[in-house]
Amino acid sequence: MIKKTALNAARMKSKNYRRILDEIWVAPASRSELARRIGLTRAAVSVIVDSLLQRNILVEGDVINTKTRGRSSTELHWNKDAFYSVGISLQRNKITVGLTDFCGNLLAVSEINLYTYAAEDKEALLIRVEDIIENFIKHLKPSGEFLGIGISSPGPFDLQTGTILNPPNFEFLHNTPIVEILKERFNCKVIIENDANACALVELRYGTKAKYDSFLLLDINEGVGSGLILNGKLNKGVMGHGNELGHVTIDMNGPKCQCGNYGCAELYSSIPNIVAQAKALDESLINWKTIVEFAYSGVPTALEILKREAEYIATMAVTAINILDIQAVVLTGQVAYNPELLISMIEEEINNRIFTRLSRTVKVLRSQISRNSQALLGSNLMIENYLEDLSNAVTFESES
Ligand SMILES: [Zn+2]
Repeated sequence: MIKKTALNAARMKSKNYRRILDEIWVAPASRSELARRIGLTRAAVSVIVDSLLQRNILVEGDVINTKTRGRSSTELHWNKDAFYSVGISLQRNKITVGLTDFCGNLLAVSEINLYTYAAEDKEALLIRVEDIIENFIKHLKPSGEFLGIGISSPGPFDLQTGTILNPPNFEFLHNTPIVEILKERFNCKVIIENDANACALVELRYGTKAKYDSFLLLDINEGVGSGLILNGKLNKGVMGHGNELGHVTIDMNGPKCQCGNYGCAELYSSIPNIVAQAKALDESLINWKTIVEFAYSGVPTALEILKREAEYIATMAVTAINILDIQAVVLTGQVAYNPELLISMIEEEINNRIFTRLSRTVKVLRSQISRNSQALLGSNLMIENYLEDLSNAVTFESES
């Protein structure tokens, strides 16, 4: 019984560490302000803050309210120089490698155009990636501790070894044990994550911040990727292969998909598929940008296609909302080109169809993350991993 109480106390302490860090991330605050926001005593907040200052994770900023009960009060911030990490984003046409500080600020970035590499040059390409990383670390001498290398990539992977298996349209890097290769070269922690999941985590930290802590991110390009954040955490599914909203059936009698299922949402809503439907209807609708622009000008065929895409997206979203009770849907990828009209159509469709429609509405938004943040998709994985490890360490310290 005593042991259980101690464990609960340790978990609570670890939870409060995260709450304090998250609160300061959303807006820098003093100890008293944190106590007020979180509902802890100032003394309890001070103990945690002192420990975070000692670990160099937080720094004290400007002095504020010097007259508050005779005590000076300083604003606390995340210490951007505490750590740095490398992010690699593997995309179908290019690889982005970047270096970021602990607050996700990009310190350096480099891009490799994949079209300049022939299929047999895989080894040369990986050496180029390694050289970029080495150059960053050697020449820029970033402050703080190195957290490691985070990779965002189209899946699937072998989760045990971090080997990229066989993502469609990604033959060049099929069966590449990239995690092992980089671990061996740099002797550091290396993490790989599905690109839509990595994107959802970046959206949570840098985009929607504290506004939504449960949302579905849909990344619609050549395929449909999706990431799910539930109560502030990335949903990984039981075996780490969850979140494939693009592969839920929206037509039971539809064609067979590469994934094995029939009539998957991706077969209708991915950009090439919706553009093919548009061309069949009106041959002037040659790409997604044209469809969107013509729809704004009131061209009926373009409006019809936009409405159709909104219905496909809403069908995926309603499935997720009815099961998981999430607050928002975030759109990213090519589909998010000038998306206000599409978003209003999706919102109307969703809010007419969800189970809880009489008591609430679900918001659809465009991703707040800039398209230049590719490297952050990877390096943010290391920041999230560090914060997770810190919470576990706090629980462990308290137990022993
Ligand atoms: Zn499928």
